[in-house]
Amino acid sequence: MIQVHEVSQEFMVGNSVHLALQNITFAAASGDIVAIMGPSGSGKSTLLNIIGGLLTPTRGSVSINGVKVSSLNDNEASALRRKLIGFVFQNFNLIPVLSAYANVEYPLLLQERPPRERRERVMDLLQKVGLEKYAKSLPSQMSGGQQQRIAIARALISNPKVLLGDEPTANLDERTAREVIDLMLRLNVDLGACLIFSTHDQRVADVASRVCRLHNGAMDS
Ligand code: ADP
Ligand code: MG
Repeated sequence: MIQVHEVSQEFMVGNSVHLALQNITFAAASGDIVAIMGPSGSGKSTLLNIIGGLLTPTRGSVSINGVKVSSLNDNEASALRRKLIGFVFQNFNLIPVLSAYANVEYPLLLQERPPRERRERVMDLLQKVGLEKYAKSLPSQMSGGQQQRIAIARALISNPKVLLGDEPTANLDERTAREVIDLMLRLNVDLGACLIFSTHDQRVADVASRVCRLHNGAMDS
């Protein structure tokens, strides 16, 4: 489903080239859970941004369902992203002035789906993440764990084949982190998506079908 092939990423820092990723190759199938681990600065976010098509790698390629993400132009990449990829961030990234319902609905508005379909999908997902009672609440009226569950519902609204998470539990206390992880695992099984996330959390790694360890942009094998 996902193939990361000999991906390298260079950044210019002042006058010198910083190698943020060196020749990363791996593949993941639907239902797989891949944990990307490594110290701060090891390249985790860079790798996830490349897989999600937010960043074009200096070298190498990423394919999702046989489509090369890295060769698409910006418009094509965002269309593919909306269809195939859900993204969950460390700081939740909800839109503060929109209700939980409207945050989850937002990607469907961009896709111009009919109102009734939108309503059914949104309510179904709010139910799946256990927050249907919070439909009208603003992000500021919810706990961190609840906000992240809303962000997960939003990430899943288009039935993505791949759910990417950049340290999705980093800002949550231990118990809430556990709940969010359990939710992602459950949805992963239900939806048959492929889960790829970066984490410092050994418990997340314990449930992964594969752990990729990064050090200074290189993957241990
Ligand atoms: P992690 O998520 O594992 O903490 P990152 O992927 O954010 O690591 O960063 C990897 C390395 O690349 C770091 O040394 C970081 O400073 C560098 N880096 C990331 N993004 C940029 C950028 N846009 N410009 C320059 N350097 C960057
Ligand atoms: Mg990071």
